[in-house]
Amino acid sequence: MAENNKNHTLSKEKDKEIQDIIKKELDRQRSNLLLIASENYTSQEVIKTMGSVLTNKYAEGYPNNRYYGGCEYVDQAEQVAIDRVNRLFGSDYANVQPHSGVNANTAVFVAILEPNDRILSMSLKDGGHLSHGQSHNLSGKYFDIYNYCVDPGTELIDYEQVKKMAKRVRPKLIICGASSYSRIIDFKKFREIADEVGAYLMADIAHIAGLIAGGQHPTSIGIADFTTGTTHKTLRGPRGGMILADKKYKKILDMAVFPGTQGGPLMHIIAAKAVCFREAMSSSFKEYAKDVVDNCKTLCQHLKDEGFRIVSGGTDNHLFLIDLSEKGITGYDATGVLASCGIVINKNLIPYDNKSPVVTSGIRIGTAAVTTQGMGKKEMHILGDIITFALNNKDNASRLRQAKEKVDALVADFPIYQNF
Ligand SMILES: *Cc1c(COP(=O)(O)O)cnc(C)c1O
Repeated sequence: MAENNKNHTLSKEKDKEIQDIIKKELDRQRSNLLLIASENYTSQEVIKTMGSVLTNKYAEGYPNNRYYGGCEYVDQAEQVAIDRVNRLFGSDYANVQPHSGVNANTAVFVAILEPNDRILSMSLKDGGHLSHGQSHNLSGKYFDIYNYCVDPGTELIDYEQVKKMAKRVRPKLIICGASSYSRIIDFKKFREIADEVGAYLMADIAHIAGLIAGGQHPTSIGIADFTTGTTHKTLRGPRGGMILADKKYKKILDMAVFPGTQGGPLMHIIAAKAVCFREAMSSSFKEYAKDVVDNCKTLCQHLKDEGFRIVSGGTDNHLFLIDLSEKGITGYDATGVLASCGIVINKNLIPYDNKSPVVTSGIRIGTAAVTTQGMGKKEMHILGDIITFALNNKDNASRLRQAKEKVDALVADFPIYQNF
């Protein structure tokens, strides 16, 4: 290079302020026990791909049909992602461009609904998601939302109630799929109900995508008209969204993502999604998905045996909810107590909760991340003991310190991201 040419990409200057923050976040992830049901530790290959030069490329449009030149390689990356996700889930159409799960849902709405059309979805406080019609979300602002709830006794989805509501409301779209529902979702029953009233069915598998891919939850493919999801929860990939559907919806869905609701796709994320889909096709991922559910059942049963009330009495998937109202501690306070011991969870409304979403009567616990770390049955019992001990001694600082030491010891045995 000529001496007086400046190549600005060669700048070696480090951004110390941000690098320090990233280092602190890495330490936080390494030193805490992550039991947030929607989080996971993605692979180093996924992280490397996200940090690649693909981020530089504008690629509005779709493979071989772009509004920019120079897309020959990102075209390949997106096509690989599409082909792999179709193979993984057995779908015949996929859109891998949605920047997030909410974006995927929004795109489906834009594809098939008009403003003020009726949607029947699960109530947020019973486990639904804000993008299914919460009043402050676009879905709640532009559409006419009706919610089904879980049965107050069993805390399970009451399919008879869903059917009754569907007949009364006559929605154009029924949404199933949840953020905090610990049981199998019967997509076929939802299909029957949707058919009876002539509604579209959308299955939002954001949480359980990895379980479906790993054969641990029945699939919605071939049953729901639209399957939306995220790639960063149990699927263990980069933060992002996706839509799977029958080929006949290709045109309207592609249009609804771009230009309907997004501009340029995140090609570095799409390539990382492709990496994730490949990983999820492996036999070790199937074992992983099984271990996630087994661990969840073990931890849930342990806490139940310790006297905690589990919403719906148990779990079939990667998460469960604890109702703390009889324990004299709120979800908000329990989150703080466990955080002080190095256990990261989230507070959660429970069905028919009489507390506000800020306080809540419950907490949500998930095993996707600790299973990625390699923990098994034995560790679930240790964890169950620590959680019980901490919550039963919530005002005793020295006992909480003891709990923290036990967490530190457990974490030390399961290091993550060692060569970062
Ligand atoms: C997590 C979640 C989403 C949203 O995903 P984002 O990527 O955060 O937008 C959508 N639907 C359900 C059911 C979820 O649990």
